[in-house]
Amino acid sequence: MAEVFITRRIFPEAKEKLEKAGFGYEINDTGKILGKSELLKRVRGKQGLIPLLNDQVDSEVMDASPDLQVIANLAVGYDNVDVAAATERGIMVTNTPGVLTETTADLTFGLLLAAARRITEADSYVRQGDWNGWELMQPQTGIDVHGKTLGIVGMGRIGAAVARRAYSGFDMDVVYQSRTRKTGIEAELDSEYLELDELLERSDFVSLHVPLTSETKEMIGKKEFELMKDDAVLINVARGPVVDESALVEALKSGEIRGAGLDVFEAEPEVHPELKELDENVVLTPHVGSASRETRLKIAEMGIENAIAALAGEEPPNLVNPEVLSGP
Ligand code: NAP
Repeated sequence: MAEVFITRRIFPEAKEKLEKAGFGYEINDTGKILGKSELLKRVRGKQGLIPLLNDQVDSEVMDASPDLQVIANLAVGYDNVDVAAATERGIMVTNTPGVLTETTADLTFGLLLAAARRITEADSYVRQGDWNGWELMQPQTGIDVHGKTLGIVGMGRIGAAVARRAYSGFDMDVVYQSRTRKTGIEAELDSEYLELDELLERSDFVSLHVPLTSETKEMIGKKEFELMKDDAVLINVARGPVVDESALVEALKSGEIRGAGLDVFEAEPEVHPELKELDENVVLTPHVGSASRETRLKIAEMGIENAIAALAGEEPPNLVNPEVLSGP
């Protein structure tokens, strides 16, 4: 009987799927991320590994279990898995695309609104008892969202879902940059494809939706902040290292840009201490883009289904390295 190691707590419904399929499993239910040596120990002898995005699955982990057939990552992004190393070893890697698109787009828009309208700051103001009544020049006066220009960087599933909200709900102009042009989206949302520099110069809000790769690492840094409008707001719900966090702090402090809404960070769960101090124009959330009850369950079930298919000798529905099937 094939055995799976699940690196963190998971919903009972997802575990039942594994049981019904006749696979054994072991879970790290401590609620804590495993250190490298513990992960190496626990994965030994397993055919399946179900990690989260903060488990680094490198060649050492793969070599700890020579029987490993599948790494079913519980996320759409799989920058935490060394896919090339997995392919070399004949290990399938899967992800969970689609099920989290709308939920992540909702959070993106929440951050955008919160940063523009200073919602978290206003909330603290009320709770602290500092509010003395309505006045015209209220301290938490923000900027409008409706009618502004939104620049999407990475017009994939989530980028497009955010763009749709902006276009049909907030009457925004959508411009975008992506690896390939999306003529369907251009027609649907009257959206314009721009080179990154021009997008940064023209956008009031810049929202990042690219995967983390060697090409996108720190794609937004000092030079890019200089191009952005002084009143611009950066939203990052992609991956922390897509932005040079120290350059972001400098850009916010010097007024190069107005604000930021961040769900992801360079060295999670660490957050740049100066970002935490910038509470007037920066909104921070702890990587909760996909965190609705419904969606997190779907992610778990999708990951388990991928693992089950792979261990049953079938092609899993969300295989990211299909070349592994053609053998060495
Ligand atoms: P997706 O559909 O694959 O979209 C990614 C888009 O980025 C694609 O359109 C892709 O272009 C484009 N792209 C890739 N490399 C690029 C580059 N160098 N320059 C410009 N564009 C580039 O993925 P998704 O489902 O929308 O997810 C996007 C990312 O969001 C994930 O990889 C993950 O890191 C992040 N995410 C975060 C959360 C959260 O909780 N904060 C939740 C879900 C996802 P092509 O169309 O040409 O491939």
